[in-house]
Amino acid sequence: MTALQLAPGDALLIADVQNDFVTGSLHVPGGAEIVPVLNRYAAAFAARSLPVFATRDWHPPDHCSFRARGGPWPIHCVAGTDGAAFVPGFVLPAGTTIVSKATAADREAYSAFSGTELDALLRSRAIRRLFVGGLATDYCVLQTALDARRLGYAVFVLADGIRAVNVAPDDGDRAIAAMRQAGAETIEFDAIEERTRGAG
Ligand code: ZN
Repeated sequence: MTALQLAPGDALLIADVQNDFVTGSLHVPGGAEIVPVLNRYAAAFAARSLPVFATRDWHPPDHCSFRARGGPWPIHCVAGTDGAAFVPGFVLPAGTTIVSKATAADREAYSAFSGTELDALLRSRAIRRLFVGGLATDYCVLQTALDARRLGYAVFVLADGIRAVNVAPDDGDRAIAAMRQAGAETIEFDAIEERTRGAG
């Protein structure tokens, strides 16, 4: 496995670790398993004073992605509800920037860059490499990683910190292939931990 030295210019983005996606109406298989892994990544970035961003799906009650409006999904992540809250046990470092997305009723947004200030926020902090984990591999993680590549960021997908919805059984695998095709690399936590030990 490639050893990675985290450095200034790196940022962590964790997508949608919210109750509805972990235990609620749109729970992703295995979603709870990645929460402690993501906590370790977040702590590793915070220990180096590197920025952490956490996105949340933050819908109005009549969002176009809901079945009642002809969309594909059950009602989920309605802004301000328990379902939209980050899961208990998901530990975000002090100073984490929260990015809310898909906040307009008539617009879906899987990518964290879609209709948000994320690109400007990253550029203002001179971020060049974006490490992306969270939920779900085949939606928010995929579209965020692809947009980040289009915008010129180096992208590392946290292979041990993502889980897929898998509406079709291989959606997650196909998403990972598409991200790699776009130039993203996949890593696991050990790639970072190695250097952590070395750096003391
Ligand atoms: Zn949604």
